[in-house]
Amino acid sequence: MPTKAKAKPEVKKAAPAKKEPVAPKAKKVVVVEPKTPPPAHLFPKKNEKHDYTISEKLKALYELQQIDSKVDKIRIVRGELPMEVKDLEDDIAGLETRVDNYTAEVHQLEESIANKKNSIKDSNAAIKKYTTQQNNVKNNREYESLTKEIEFQNLEIQLSEKRIKEYSAEIVNKKMIIEAARGSFNERKQDLELKKKELDGIVEETQKEEQILMKKSEEAGQIIESRLLTAYKKIRNNARNGLAVVTVQRDSCGGCFNYIPPQQQLDVRQRKKVIVCEHCGRILVDPDIIG
Ligand SMILES: [Zn+2]
Repeated sequence: MPTKAKAKPEVKKAAPAKKEPVAPKAKKVVVVEPKTPPPAHLFPKKNEKHDYTISEKLKALYELQQIDSKVDKIRIVRGELPMEVKDLEDDIAGLETRVDNYTAEVHQLEESIANKKNSIKDSNAAIKKYTTQQNNVKNNREYESLTKEIEFQNLEIQLSEKRIKEYSAEIVNKKMIIEAARGSFNERKQDLELKKKELDGIVEETQKEEQILMKKSEEAGQIIESRLLTAYKKIRNNARNGLAVVTVQRDSCGGCFNYIPPQQQLDVRQRKKVIVCEHCGRILVDPDIIG
């Protein structure tokens, strides 16, 4: 920005071609930098930048604000999408774990059923053996004892059958849960694919747009002298919504919505000097300044 150079007093170079003796004081030229002005002088009344009127500078400021606000919006959108993608990825990971856990439980139940079926086989074999033995008993007591064994094995079989029914019902339940989780999983996965594509598209698209806007922002900044530009950036940084230049709407500041007195509104409309809102410090402009 050429403004800074303009603010410095001109420094005469000691001409080396001339043979006149150079005065020693010419060697140490003190460059006086302009001191930081008090806030009241932040917005100079006279055009520091030769060709541009205050009105033009205000217009440039307002345009700059609109460009910068667009950039802000782009960055917000781009900031939110990655979070949505992350949320979906978390959901998918959670569903995957759920499916895995339930599948493992189903396998365990199936194994238990197989075990119960084996023990039923064993019981049946035992019953067969005891029945044969009953044909060869020597006395009643032996016969009774075998009968008891057979009864016991029959009870074992009943118990196993009961368990098999229970396990089968549990398997049906768990499979339903797995099915539902798989459904959600597939849905989320599709959402994720879409979001990722969207994100890629937005990143690509907005990066181009952002670059164009940044260039425009720079161009608009050329019209405004550096002190005013610095003030603009400072206000923007401090403002929650990034607004440093606002219009007067319904007698109120478009930034903080406080009342703006008629005289100040008139000053704003006349565009002869830079008016700031006395409540929030934002620069006030006439909404008709553009177009
Ligand atoms: Zn205000």
